[in-house]
Amino acid sequence: MGRGRYIYQIADKEPIRSCVANTYLANVRNKGNLDVLKNTLVSKLIIKHKTVIGVELIRECGTKIKAYARKEVVLSAGAFNTPQILLLSGIGPKPELEKLGIPVVLDSPKVGKNLQDHVHVPVAVVGGPSQATTLENAVSMLDWKTFPLPMVGSLFNVNKDPKKQSPEIQTITLNFGAASPFFYYLCHITFNFNHTVCKSFFNDTLAKEVYYTLTILNNPLSRGEVTLRSTDIKDPPVINAGFFRNKADLITLSKGVKKVYELLTECYEKVGGSFSRPPLPQCDDLEFGCDDYWLCYTRIMSSTTYHPAGTCAMGPDGVTDSDLKVRGIKNLRVVDASVIPKLPTANIEPTVIMIAEYAADKIKKEYACEDETAADC
Ligand SMILES: Cc1cc2nc3c(=O)[nH]c(=O)nc-3n(C[C@H](O)[C@H](O)[C@H](O)COP(=O)(O)OP(=O)(O)OC[C@H]3O[C@@H](n4cnc5c(N)ncnc54)[C@H](O)[C@@H]3O)c2cc1C
Repeated sequence: MGRGRYIYQIADKEPIRSCVANTYLANVRNKGNLDVLKNTLVSKLIIKHKTVIGVELIRECGTKIKAYARKEVVLSAGAFNTPQILLLSGIGPKPELEKLGIPVVLDSPKVGKNLQDHVHVPVAVVGGPSQATTLENAVSMLDWKTFPLPMVGSLFNVNKDPKKQSPEIQTITLNFGAASPFFYYLCHITFNFNHTVCKSFFNDTLAKEVYYTLTILNNPLSRGEVTLRSTDIKDPPVINAGFFRNKADLITLSKGVKKVYELLTECYEKVGGSFSRPPLPQCDDLEFGCDDYWLCYTRIMSSTTYHPAGTCAMGPDGVTDSDLKVRGIKNLRVVDASVIPKLPTANIEPTVIMIAEYAADKIKKEYACEDETAADC
């Protein structure tokens, strides 16, 4: 098992945790060539003769307006909503469109398919007495824009012949002080585990620190899909993550979870720490620690890492081409995580930012020559 530790990277433009809004948008907001409509939904594309000429919008109060494009439309609604908008505009698998009575503009069978995400399973280990008090933990939440949480990561393989593949498992270990409200929030709200599981974790940490390790499957073989629930943009699409459709994913991740459990308990038992075992009625009859227990634990304790991608995948026969243009439709590009054909072996936001940089370069170059004074021509 090749394994290694890495320092978790956070883009930290002091004193506020950075994001694309305060790094990219803030710099151009006063340039005069950018209008942002808040609380407004794109409901569909306006298409004439397979050429996109604009978008239909719904404002907060329900007012419908249209915006027309001089050159092209760039869709960036993310891996769930970009396919939703394409489908509502008549671009997608013909049978699905016909079922909802949507006029077919282009039969594009792969729109909404190939959904991938990094499924993860948490392993919680309680350590020594907490350095911070509960009050200090609660107060630190108020300062969470700076993200004061210590984190460490690792990458490793669990199957044979690791040289032939990139690391199958990534771990991110988060360290919380005793009775941290943020820990409960992360467990119950962010990752959607039920109250019984999160209360059990929380109770084990009333006086002790906790090391909460997200054990993440890096290269899932399973694929899910995004389909329409209705013809109303306000109805969220049906998202079937498809986790563990390919059984090899369940087996690989459960091996990773077992390995993380062994490494963490080996390390923390020396300082009086122990595994925080949540009550799982589906698994509790199985012998603790055997492979079947970890398979069951992995199945029940799995959740998203919020890296959905792939639903308008780029490729030779993909929804989009290497210029990010939608095949078969003119004047339409997709620039978001949905164009990623296969998840990278890492968290995906840097990849999404690079896709946006790539698109910006392509667009600038493509239209530069229309302006005869442009330096590139
Ligand atoms: C809780 C959480 C934690 C994460 N942590 C990390 C991390 O630590 N590291 C990392 O690399 N990645 C992380 N990610 C993943 C990362 O945020 C995403 O991969 C990335 O933001 C995807 O970018 P996107 O442009 O494809 O979609 P999004 O960022 O989702 O952007 C899509 C935008 O389109 C808007 N939209 C959707 N539908 C419509 C419509 N019909 N009309 C108008 N607008 C619409 C949405 O409101 C949204 O603003 C995290 C995600 C979440 C949710």
